[in-house]
Amino acid sequence: MILARTVEELRAALAERRASGHDIGLVPTMGAFHAGHRALMQAARDREGVVVVSLFVNPTQFGPSEDLARYPRDEDGDAAVARAEGVDVLFAPGVDDVYPPGFDSWVDPGALATVLEGAVRPGHFRGVATVCTRLFGLVRPARAYFGRKDAQQVAVLKQVVRDLALPVEIVARPIVRDADGLALSSRNAYLSRTERETALALPRAMQAGLAAHRAGANPVAAARVVLDATPPFAVDYVELADLDGPTLAAAGRVGETRLIDNVRLDGSDDGLIGG
Ligand code: AMP
Repeated sequence: MILARTVEELRAALAERRASGHDIGLVPTMGAFHAGHRALMQAARDREGVVVVSLFVNPTQFGPSEDLARYPRDEDGDAAVARAEGVDVLFAPGVDDVYPPGFDSWVDPGALATVLEGAVRPGHFRGVATVCTRLFGLVRPARAYFGRKDAQQVAVLKQVVRDLALPVEIVARPIVRDADGLALSSRNAYLSRTERETALALPRAMQAGLAAHRAGANPVAAARVVLDATPPFAVDYVELADLDGPTLAAAGRVGETRLIDNVRLDGSDDGLIGG
């Protein structure tokens, strides 16, 4: 595996591989790898001739009061994971490589980026869309792999790729969960044991919502009942939305930690708990 820290090193690492005619698959990440990231790497490895993983904690997608400074970082551990998953190139650039001096162009996605996460985190998807567009330009992947854990991100990026006619296919992969149902997230590392118990209300709420939907009842109301019965869980939203498919999405805070979850209501998310 090649570790590329600059745009020049990335170009050098990809030049030869590009010349061989193999498709490139890109997995954009912010690091602190867990089994959710590994599943994306494996999906890319199964299909692509060349797998590039980017590791960049993108400052422009964090709000001023968010956790940029304390976001978990473990580059050595991440490099070992990527190597074990057969990744060809780990691109771990500095901020100046992604946003060089004079950088001043932004991808500003529309209405879909203003609801749910976009309403709670103004500018978040502008940062996401801009960094992903730049990564697509640098790596020029045939496909880019994303997790449905961030279902709105998938939907926003599909719209950006469609609207700007970017020559990349967005591949969406299922949510990977711990045995207790909690969706894996780098932010779960922030949770104390008791906070983690509280956090389990989120997957339980998704499960209740899915069950209600299947029974012909209101999934939002059913999910709300579960979350409202867990007072330390501070709900940001529980809503239905078309996120690349009919989706029940929820988010909230447990102590200082912000968590999100979602479930597809079209039957493609069986085995929500205990996966
Ligand atoms: P992050 O490093 O949190 O920006 O995530 C990088 C990629 O991994 C994104 O496409 C996420 O949606 C995906 N991802 C994160 N957690 C999970 C999970 N539990 N299951 C599936 N994909 C995930």
